[in-house]
Amino acid sequence: MAARVKRDDRVFVLRGKDAGNQGKVLRVLPSEGKVVVEGINLVKRHTRGNPAAGRQGGIVSKEMPMDMSKVMPVCPSCGKPTRINVKQLDDGTKARVCKRCQGMMN
Ligand SMILES: [Zn+2]
Repeated sequence: MAARVKRDDRVFVLRGKDAGNQGKVLRVLPSEGKVVVEGINLVKRHTRGNPAAGRQGGIVSKEMPMDMSKVMPVCPSCGKPTRINVKQLDDGTKARVCKRCQGMMN
């Protein structure tokens, strides 16, 4: 099966504390079925400064991987979160097609 979500996709968060927000996919972890989405599922880490290395202490936010089933791709054509169809093209490559507007997702 072709990947439902790819890197650089915009996705809509369905569940969790960021439900209703959108973000860009930074990383896909296929073996875990997880994605890392920019600005979503942030955890805050308190870090100690290291003046010698020129680093300031403070709170650093970092995106944690989240379940792929909790996000839905946003179609670039109609701008809405959508389910996708995977269609085989004549040259054998697979394309993702928006179920709402039939626009290509790739
Ligand atoms: Zn669409």
